[in-house]
Amino acid sequence: MSTHANTKMLSEADGYDLLRRFNVPAPLFEIVTSPEAAAAAATKIGYPVVMKIVSPQIIHKSDAGGVIVGVKTDEEAKTAYNTIISSVKAYNPDAEIKGIIVEEMAKPGLELIIGGKIDPAFGRVITFGLGGTLVEFHKDVGIRILPCTDDEIKSLIKQIKGYTLIAGYRGDAPKDEEFLFQTLKNACEFFEENENVVEFDINPLRLYEKGGCAVDARVIVQ
Ligand code: ADP
Ligand code: MG
Repeated sequence: MSTHANTKMLSEADGYDLLRRFNVPAPLFEIVTSPEAAAAAATKIGYPVVMKIVSPQIIHKSDAGGVIVGVKTDEEAKTAYNTIISSVKAYNPDAEIKGIIVEEMAKPGLELIIGGKIDPAFGRVITFGLGGTLVEFHKDVGIRILPCTDDEIKSLIKQIKGYTLIAGYRGDAPKDEEFLFQTLKNACEFFEENENVVEFDINPLRLYEKGGCAVDARVIVQ
């Protein structure tokens, strides 16, 4: 994913912690290393939960069978733990498995992507578009060079084709554009203030009629 030498990917949990410091909302989570601990964590967080693999070698967790959403009971949590571990081992026998992250399950919303990278010509840039697992399919992403003004962030939001989904498509209630603006601004600040971060993406950020929440975070540091 990264083109920089000597970089490493932070865990999703560390990514959430860092983003939260810049007021980007993320789910409650706990990292566990046994089926029983998964059930206990899920009970504490409150069902339903999402469970995902924690491994530095697994960059696209879904591709590895490393994500199970909608886990509803202790029994399901224990089974999901074992299912994820065996899927990931089958996918990449060399992957170092650090555990499983048990997360609050966010309600459905519009899935967007916010990313940052260092462009060889322009330096730090921020990207924004329609996200989720269909991000490659949509190819609906805009870009701005950092630092950027409030107006540049606002025009970035309005520029994507998917903006109609934010503004309220065919009678759907509009999504929280003010929250999105503030979150993009926070993400810019996060990327400008952490010089060791060379690349990141929040994919997806779920956007609601009121507020939103990051439900995945990949942060590459040098
Ligand atoms: P990947 O590494 O494959 O990108 P993600 O963490 O993005 O894995 O999870 C895949 C999909 O599962 C997300 O795009 C999102 O739709 C859903 N998902 C992940 N975490 C949550 C969560 N906490 N609540 C609700 N849905 C989630
Ligand atoms: Mg993702």
